[in-house]
Amino acid sequence: MIRLQDVQLGYDGCLVLRDLNIEVVPGEVFGLVGPNGSGKTTLLRAISGRLAPEAGAIYLDCRRLTELSPRELARELAALEQEISCSFDFTVREIVELGRLPHRERWQRLSSKDSEVITRALELTHTLEFSERKIQSLSSGERQRVWIALALAQEPKVLLLDEPTAHLDLNYQIEIMELIRSLAQRDLTVLVSLHDLNLALRYTDRVALLSEGRVLAVGEPERILTAELIERVFRTKVRIVNGTGDLYIVPVRSQR
Ligand code: ADP
Repeated sequence: MIRLQDVQLGYDGCLVLRDLNIEVVPGEVFGLVGPNGSGKTTLLRAISGRLAPEAGAIYLDCRRLTELSPRELARELAALEQEISCSFDFTVREIVELGRLPHRERWQRLSSKDSEVITRALELTHTLEFSERKIQSLSSGERQRVWIALALAQEPKVLLLDEPTAHLDLNYQIEIMELIRSLAQRDLTVLVSLHDLNLALRYTDRVALLSEGRVLAVGEPERILTAELIERVFRTKVRIVNGTGDLYIVPVRSQR
């Protein structure tokens, strides 16, 4: 589905990530983890086509990303940035309607198919009940679900999410991660950067651990997020605790 081959990424010739060789398979939730500044956002930017690699190639369904027009790309892939600011006073439905733009001619009215897709996106994200409310009147958790609905209205095969749970309360974090899992069960491929390792452990199929300009390890989260590797990369002592079958990463506080 997504393949990175010998990719180097950076800004103005200064490399941030090198030797990237990653394959993401259809229908998986693929997590990106690593310390602040390790390049998670940079990698998502490159896969969304907004940052051209310094070297190497990125393939989406066997086609090079650079061969796709912006419109073609928007039909295949939807990307949500970390902090979306929204100063206009649109209703939720009006926002989600924008997701149909890659499928319509400019100024063309919404077709019945467009309306169906929009309603479906609202249903899947549990935002239908407040679809006539103004976006500004919603809580951060509700608003995050609206952005995901907007992305789903694009009918993408791949969804890129940059720290979708940042600034959300625990209950909203769980809600968003459960939503992501249910979307993957409907064959959507999800790439998600997460700073919370416990969410990565619980909700991803595989993770890539980024550190010092490279992908240090890729695999199932239980295999990659070991106490030893976390300590090495995050420079924090942790313990992995088994609580009724689920694993939890718990920081160990140093003695005072
Ligand atoms: P993460 O998402 O893991 O916190 P980022 O991808 O945001 O990491 O950043 C990786 C590195 O790239 C950092 O050193 C950061 O300063 C640098 N960087 C990010 N965006 C830009 C940019 N637009 N211009 C120059 N350097 C950038």
